[in-house]
Amino acid sequence: RPVIGVLALQGGVAEHLTALERAGAVARPVRRPEELAEVHGIVLPGGESTTMSRLLDAFELTEPLRARLAAGLPAYGSCAGMVLLAREVQDDRAVRPLGALDVVVRRNAFGRQVDSFETDLDVREVGRVRGVFIRAPWVESAGPAVEVLATAGHPEVPDASAPAAPAGRIVAVRQARVLATAFHPELVGGDERVHRHFVQTVRAR
Ligand code: GLN
Repeated sequence: RPVIGVLALQGGVAEHLTALERAGAVARPVRRPEELAEVHGIVLPGGESTTMSRLLDAFELTEPLRARLAAGLPAYGSCAGMVLLAREVQDDRAVRPLGALDVVVRRNAFGRQVDSFETDLDVREVGRVRGVFIRAPWVESAGPAVEVLATAGHPEVPDASAPAAPAGRIVAVRQARVLATAFHPELVGGDERVHRHFVQTVRAR
């Protein structure tokens, strides 16, 4: 079984550890460079990307993580994890992203009207899933190597989908071995398909 780490500095760590184990991986929390060195893949959980960015520096993980990502370490980021994996965060200097995905993300993008919402969405390579969005980012723009796996709009705020409506905003992407979702599959009990997809990516590597 592949050993997959969950960055355990802040945020929804336990839910990812559980989902990864159910999806067939050996899941381990990662807080130290020595722990990072032992994993075959890494999950960056949801939480607060500004805080995680600061803690990555404080725990001296930023450069080791950047180096492993550059060397092809498979990674999956949900929500704040997607923000951290990006090349650029739009209009926001509080996060120093890791640059593993050729995307520009916008934090807290779906607006103030509703902090969180759920909607069903079709995710390429995975199927129809329940999307749980909590102060979620979206992908503002993506480079040519990035495959769009899912789009979504806010179910009750039509203007949140502009200008890409009716397809909505980009909320799931993959670039080679790096996967990211703006939503939280780890919070949907009993459905580990997104995690299974990532475990397969790690196995294939
Ligand atoms: N709004 C948070 C951020 O930008 C992400 C929220 C989440 O991970 N649920 O860091």
